[in-house]
Amino acid sequence: MGGATARVPAKINLHLGVGPLRDDGFHELSTLYCALSLFDDVTVRADDALSVTVRGESRRQVPADATNLAARAVVALARRVGADPHAAITIDKAIPVAGGMAGGSADAAGALVAAARLWRLDIARDDLLEIAAELGSDVPFSVVGGAALGTGRGEKLLPVLHRGDMHWVLAVAGTGLSTPEVYREIDRLRARGDDDQPAAAGTTRPDALMQALASGDVHAVAPLLHNDLQPAALSLQPLLRRTLRAGREAGALAGIVSGSGPTCAFLCADADAAVEVAAELSGSGVAKAVRTASGPVAGARLIAAN
Ligand code: ATP
Repeated sequence: MGGATARVPAKINLHLGVGPLRDDGFHELSTLYCALSLFDDVTVRADDALSVTVRGESRRQVPADATNLAARAVVALARRVGADPHAAITIDKAIPVAGGMAGGSADAAGALVAAARLWRLDIARDDLLEIAAELGSDVPFSVVGGAALGTGRGEKLLPVLHRGDMHWVLAVAGTGLSTPEVYREIDRLRARGDDDQPAAAGTTRPDALMQALASGDVHAVAPLLHNDLQPAALSLQPLLRRTLRAGREAGALAGIVSGSGPTCAFLCADADAAVEVAAELSGSGVAKAVRTASGPVAGARLIAAN
């Protein structure tokens, strides 16, 4: 029986502006996504029932049943084309779980791309992206990758010009943060007047950052990294302040909480600097794991099919 494997990157948000809460319960966002070279591999094989197997250190934190986002993606695609969602899904997980790096969204995107190949579907990219958006706000970006401006709840994408590679160090925390909980915390901080960033400013387009990315100058990018969710993540996990300080002291140009956290992402001057910052951060004991990664990289892509 045939199978197909898609490789999918993690994301960070170079800018995450959180606007007002909408009637549908989502916040209006203005975000600049960047895909990084930290990947999950999602394999979809023909089988006589739907199943999910998760491999990797964090496998116990991920549901191995129909609630897994990769399984939901296979079911959604099958429904769209009138096929049976009978497939064995295997996820080789390297993206931190509940880390603000869109790991679940990456698996959904990988499952869509792999299942479309397995079933030899002639599905238009826009249709695939529409299914992706129904699965989750970050899933379309996991399909396209690179660098992109996300608006709406993050699902409306425009590619962003960028030059050269950026080198990052990622500090992965021992305990994850729930994305809905972090959004509730930002609402709470704003309602109390404890957030200096008004909600209305959250939807402003990060033009200066986009220009810096196009120039390929990481020293221009570094001071423009911004995350409206950072105060909420720090409020829920105060120890992250120590992680951010340790990264800067280790020589990173800048550090931010990635998305809803708690992973912290540090931008470094070049690949050698990233290795040095990673070594120092590993020694400081502020994170459960430390990784280097570069980007922007491509989105979900097939690496094997038969
Ligand atoms: P985001 O950055 O998109 O807000 P995240 O990276 O913080 O998300 P995920 O790793 O996507 O968080 O996991 C969030 C929760 O989703 C997990 O706690 C897990 O229970 C559930 N989940 C469902 N499917 C998956 C999957 N394939 N991989 C990881 N988590 C999954």
